[in-house]
This record gives sequence, C-alpha cells and structure tokens, in this order.
Amino acid sequence: MTVTVRFAPSPTGRIHIGNARTALFNWLFALNNKGRFIQRFDDTDISRSTQEFADSILYDLHWLGIFPDVTEYQSRRVEIYDAAVERLKAARVLYACYETPEELDLRRKVRRTRGLPPVYGREALTLTPEQVAEYQSDGRKPHWRFLLPNFTSDPLQPERTEIHWNDLVRGEETVDLASLSDPVLLREDGTYLYTLPSVVDDIEMGVTHVIRGDDHVTNTGVQIALFQALEAVPPVFGHHNLLTTASGEGLSKRTGALSIESLREDGIEPMAVASLAVLVGTSENVATMPDLAELAGHFDPAATSKSAAKFDPDELFVLNRALIHHMPFSEARDRLIVLGVSGDKAEPFWLAVRGNLDRLADAVQWWRILGDGPQEPPELSGEDRDFLREAFDLLPEEPWNGTVWKDWTGKIREATGRKGKALFMPLRLALTGQPSGPELADLLPLLGREGTLARRP
Ligand code: GLU
Repeated sequence: MTVTVRFAPSPTGRIHIGNARTALFNWLFALNNKGRFIQRFDDTDISRSTQEFADSILYDLHWLGIFPDVTEYQSRRVEIYDAAVERLKAARVLYACYETPEELDLRRKVRRTRGLPPVYGREALTLTPEQVAEYQSDGRKPHWRFLLPNFTSDPLQPERTEIHWNDLVRGEETVDLASLSDPVLLREDGTYLYTLPSVVDDIEMGVTHVIRGDDHVTNTGVQIALFQALEAVPPVFGHHNLLTTASGEGLSKRTGALSIESLREDGIEPMAVASLAVLVGTSENVATMPDLAELAGHFDPAATSKSAAKFDPDELFVLNRALIHHMPFSEARDRLIVLGVSGDKAEPFWLAVRGNLDRLADAVQWWRILGDGPQEPPELSGEDRDFLREAFDLLPEEPWNGTVWKDWTGKIREATGRKGKALFMPLRLALTGQPSGPELADLLPLLGREGTLARRP
C-alpha cells in the first residue's frame, strides 16, 4: 500500500512556523517512504475559510519546497459526508439533540457540583416523541452527536472503554471513551464540524498515516471509534509536540505571529525555517540543512520529544546567516539578478560579501557601495586624510594578481610606518564608508584600480 499522508489546515489565516512543522513532518515522512502527500483544506467552516487563505497556504508550502500530489477542498465534498451521515444514522450511532448552548452550559455546571465529569449526559436519548415534536414545532433544529461505543447495553451507563494505538511519535497511547462527550458531528444549520469530514476523507483518500500536532491526541480516540463505526481500518497516527516561543507561548494563525509570510519578508531562507521547524524539539541538533532531501535524512518521528518544542525566534536569524554564508553562487544567481546584481563580477562579488550578510537581499547594499562608492563620505581626521593620500599614491599598477591587497598594504606599511587598525581602518572607511564588512582583499579586485582611485580622499 502506498504511504499516503495529508496536511489539513483550515484556510482561516496564514500558516505559521508551527503549521509548517506539521506540513514538513508529513512531507518528509512521504519522502522517506516514497509516499503521496495530499493537501487537504478543512474548509467546512465557510464563514471563516477563504480561497485567498488557501492560495496563500499553497504559496507558502511551495516556498518551503512542498509540492502536493493533489489538493482537495472539503467544501466541495459535502455529498460524501452526507452519505456517511446516512450510514451512521442507519447504524443508530448518530442521534439528534435539541439543547441550546445555554442549556448545555447549565447542565455541565450541575454535573460539576455533583462531582461528575463535565461530559454530555446523553439526555437527548431519553426524549419522548412528544418532546421532540414540541421542540420541532418551536422551530428548534437538531444538532447531531456520534454515540461513542463506551457502554455494554445501556448508553446511559457508560463504562471505561480504552482505545489504544501505537503512536509514531509517542508510542503506546490510550484514551478512555467514557471520559469524553459524544462529539457533535453536524451543527443545527446542517454544516459539518471537523471530525466527520476528516475521518471520511482519510478513508476515501486512502490516508495511511495521520501526522499532526499533539493537540489532537484526544480527538484520535473519538476518530478511531468513528473509523470503526464506518467499518474502516484506522490509519497509523503520529502526534508531534507543538512549537512554542521560549516563554512557552503557543503560535496562532489568527495573530499572524511567526507566519511563513512574515519570515519570508524578513529575508529568512526557506531552509532556515524548515530546518528549525523540523529539528527543534527532537533528539537531533538544530542545524541548517541545504535542502529537504538532506533534512529528510535527519527526520525520524520517533526521535521527537513529547514535551513542547520551545524555540527562540532569533535562532532563525542565526540559521539564516549560516545558510547565506555557505550559499553557492549557483543558488544565489537568479535571485541576485532580480536584485540588479549581475554580470562578470556577480560571482566574485557574491563570494566576497556572502560571509557578511544577514539576508541575501542585503547584498544590494554592498553592490551599491562597490558601484557608486560609500553612501556618505566617511568622516576622517586630517591626519588620516594625509595618510590615505600617500597610501593611494602607492596603489600598484594593473594588471593585478591575487596578492594585490597584500602587496599594496606592504608598501603602505613600509612608507608610513602604520600597521594594524591604524592602517586598515582608514582604508576600509575610504573604500566602503563602513567600519566593518567583507575582506578588503576580496573587494579590491572588484573595485579595480580606477574604482579604487576614485575613492581617494
Ligand atoms: N483542520 C485540522 C487542524 O488544522 C486538521 C487536523 C488533522 O490533521 O486532522 O487542526
């Protein structure tokens, strides 16, 4: 059987790095098992889901290097869910309930004061036909609950009923169905909550492995029962730990915090995001991987920790720098062209400046400095100015070879007696206008003799 996974966000916001963790866990799992990756939009909540968000999620996934085999929208599959509802009704495991949210709230409070777990007490099962008729004539519409199989013969007497699975990440897991309320599958207005469409799609789409955040562990107990009620074999489940900030805050699609879009706009490279999103909170060291194939080699769901994966967003910048500092020209070339960095000098330029960049786009500043001179004339003391004039007069004639910087500064040292910072800093300021930056030995050949002399104060 082909390994088949899915990433199933609701398109109600931009995805963040925590969602990327789920997407990448699935993608890498598929990669390692020659499997298929389904992009499924859980968009049954039509009031909050939009096509724009779905498109933006696809864009973000492509940016990360994830290219789904198929893309599905639950909103286009309602008939399939309706058919499943009929099957559940026929099996008498889906029942109509008429309580309002206020009534349910009151019941929960009463149960709590009596020391009972605050789960739904299945009162709807005890309604007489007259009571149902009365609700209906009042215009109340039912919502529908799935009867969890947690009793022997009387649903009003639930008993401990353990659902077990061997979790890809967490190992043996157990959920007691008696500790849960019968889940609402269909709302009063006929729209679906997440549970049923998710299970039906996992069956219909041949999903073999469900890999998602550990906020779904309890849902899995319910969903396994639902797979069984629909006479299907449940898939393998894996629940990874969630990403939180160093202070333990969770991430939310709603706030836009650490969205993939904002990281892209900050100039973070996709592989910096992917490396952190996958490796943090696992037994692997967090380090940048050059591509997803290599990251897949370091990915093992079972090596994921069970506690929250805390991370410091600044770590992304550290990883980003590491990637940029080693990025071959072939990888940077097209993006540099877009930024206006092209021609014969583009490659030596890139190799000279990449070690000083926080983000690839920052290369432009150096390209401008080399092309047009320092943005502002450097502030120099009279003494330094005299020193520089003398130094520029010693600039070797062309053609230059690889040792021109060494030769030139050797001559300057000899003639002026300056050395160390006193020698290099005025030169750096005159040539670049900046107190720090790429090796001057690499920049000098890019400037050429004429370009260098143009910077003589
Ligand atoms: N739409 C659900 C979510 O975003 C999907 C969970 C699942 O993978 O089953 O949480």
